[in-house]
Amino acid sequence: SVAVSIESVEKRFQNFPALRGVSLDIQPGELVALLGPSGSGKTTLLRVIAGLEQAERGRVLFGETDTRELTLRERRIGFVFQHYALFKTMSVAENIAFGLKSRPRAERPAPAEIRKRVSDLLELIQLPGLEKRYPSQLSGGQRQRIALARALAIEPRVLLLDEPFGALDAKVRKDLRAWLRQLHQRTGHTTVFVTHDQEEALELADRVAILHDGRLEQVGSPDDVYDHPATPFVCQFLGDANHLPVKVVGSQAFFQDRPVLGGLRQNQGGPASLYVRPQHLRIVDDAPLALPGVVEHLRRNGPLRRAEVAVEGLPKRLDVDLASQVAPAIGERIRLRITHGNLFAAA
Ligand code: ADP
Ligand code: MG
Repeated sequence: SVAVSIESVEKRFQNFPALRGVSLDIQPGELVALLGPSGSGKTTLLRVIAGLEQAERGRVLFGETDTRELTLRERRIGFVFQHYALFKTMSVAENIAFGLKSRPRAERPAPAEIRKRVSDLLELIQLPGLEKRYPSQLSGGQRQRIALARALAIEPRVLLLDEPFGALDAKVRKDLRAWLRQLHQRTGHTTVFVTHDQEEALELADRVAILHDGRLEQVGSPDDVYDHPATPFVCQFLGDANHLPVKVVGSQAFFQDRPVLGGLRQNQGGPASLYVRPQHLRIVDDAPLALPGVVEHLRRNGPLRRAEVAVEGLPKRLDVDLASQVAPAIGERIRLRITHGNLFAAA
């Protein structure tokens, strides 16, 4: 059965619609990344799931149970925020044990059991023996790992992580991504991970849910959403994409009367928007469907070199990943073949 069902949730602040009918099913043990730009409603959705915010419409179920029937404690949510939410005046052990110690007496584990739980959790997050440290004596990355251990201490039904690595350096973030992925594989908590970082979402998640202006634009596996974006927004948000206005006739797309992409399934002809990622443009000697252009600039993009190619009739240069291709010279006339593109109805 489904772990969390979000059904047609709507949430307004004054008159502003922060969530406009969001539906999403999360499977037990699944790690879902909730991805969207700032202000798209990610935190609001997490707060609705946690019961910290009341939806005007729709509902959230845990299994078969409507969460409105559960108290905050009964929801058993593990929540980690972007900004260090550790209590500064408490040791690491006290921080991790906080949720357990604040339970009603009848449900509170014995002190020895709490100590054991804390030590096991520190082992699990690969920071053994740090019980007596204080937050000020930890690095940012260590603090977020402790915050995660604290969220895990209550054996949460659902783990909600709101940009937990957002305030950390790029390198630390990348390390923590891999660390979290491994931890999740070991513990299998149902997890919603909020981020505005596409790379983080694509690398971490079993499924990615893309939120835009309070609506889910697409939900799918990382490969799905990256290779087959449902909307131009998703396409551009998930990675660089060149845009070409084209006309579709039969199974071919034409840019200025020149066929540039074939084998299309669309049978709806007419004007369309073609989006092509830089790695899907190849420099070719000759091809039936090729776009002539002039190399105007070369630059690096992470591990890859990239050429900027001016094409007559396009206001913006095309970005072309060179990968292992021989770099052309600046000013060189080349031909480009589109190996993969995403076609959308013209706006
Ligand atoms: P995200 O986490 O994706 O950046 P939020 O869920 O925090 O987005 O916010 C979504 C929208 O709702 C934003 O436009 C934000 O300004 C608005 N909003 C969020 N919380 C409140 C609030 N308590 N009062 C008024 N507006 C809010
Ligand atoms: Mg937020």
